[in-house]
Amino acid sequence: MQTQSPSPDQLSNSDLVTELKRLLRNARQATAELVAYLGELDERRLYVSEGYPSLFKYCTDALAMSEDETFFRIHAARAARRFPALLEMLAAGSIHLTTVRLVSSHLTAENASDLLSAVSRKSKRDVEHYLASRFPQAGPADSVRKLPIRKAAVPETFAPPEAPANVKPAATEPPPQPRLRPPVVAPVSAERYKIAFTIEAATRAKLQKAQDLLRHAVPSGDLAAIFDRALTLLVADLEKKKCGETGRPRPQPETPPRSRYIPAAVRRAVWRRDGGQCAFVGTAGRCESRAFLEYHHVIPYSVGGQATVESIELRCATHNRHEWDLFITARDSAAAESAASAQSRSGPSPMTRASTPPESWA
Ligand SMILES: [Zn+2]
Repeated sequence: MQTQSPSPDQLSNSDLVTELKRLLRNARQATAELVAYLGELDERRLYVSEGYPSLFKYCTDALAMSEDETFFRIHAARAARRFPALLEMLAAGSIHLTTVRLVSSHLTAENASDLLSAVSRKSKRDVEHYLASRFPQAGPADSVRKLPIRKAAVPETFAPPEAPANVKPAATEPPPQPRLRPPVVAPVSAERYKIAFTIEAATRAKLQKAQDLLRHAVPSGDLAAIFDRALTLLVADLEKKKCGETGRPRPQPETPPRSRYIPAAVRRAVWRRDGGQCAFVGTAGRCESRAFLEYHHVIPYSVGGQATVESIELRCATHNRHEWDLFITARDSAAAESAASAQSRSGPSPMTRASTPPESWA
């Protein structure tokens, strides 16, 4: 238990500075420890059984961390799993979370020592300049127009730094970091948002074509109106493909017995029943993920599961994989028990190991 800090207004000038430095040392030490713990939690994937689809969601929802806090700490946690020296640097204050974020995608076993000492105790701007000269990047693709720089509200990014949900994070290299600025969604009023992102020249051509084709309905070529129409069509198309949604459902042929195929009518019913959301219920509640959704056979196909509404549920990729891991663990454990029991009765017997992936991954 640490001693409580004295009230700052009662300290002399020199004591105030001394105390401030002590608090800063403690805060840096705490940050390094938090990052190390986060990395271990990530490695063990403890958030999955609690019902969270990603470490990012666990941090923001279960730990009540802000998105920015989470973003930088997860980056640091994953980088520190590969380069533990980062923890000592964070504790000593010779590197900041922002610098770790900037430098982590460039770190390799060969350059880590040299690169980390080069960015040690440097400002963000100096680190950016240093990295730009040491690792020059191609410029961003053409954009529709160059936006004027204005003061804006704190941006929300679309892209948290989590690894793809079905990839074991610590066992893999983090995905390459794009040099383009992430898309930004910033509220400008209660009902309106400003969105900024760059697009390829080909996308710009499509945009111009859509503006021309829609002149009768949107004479001004208003981008927001066209964006809305495009998304309406895209969502309808994706729902049709993903959940078998259709305006005119056709009578479904009988499902052939023992088929992996999930009829469109079953997909529609499951999607509606589960509300287009992962139906995994962990120790902390139901998973809220609506991304990376897959159709999960409650009883795996390989052991007789049928493609019926009652036996299919939605799962995000993380929890579909988690269910499969649980199934494999239970099956192997039962097989081992059975083999041990048989061995105790009549000597050793070969143990078979099936390795069929979950059919709903397809
Ligand atoms: Zn889930």
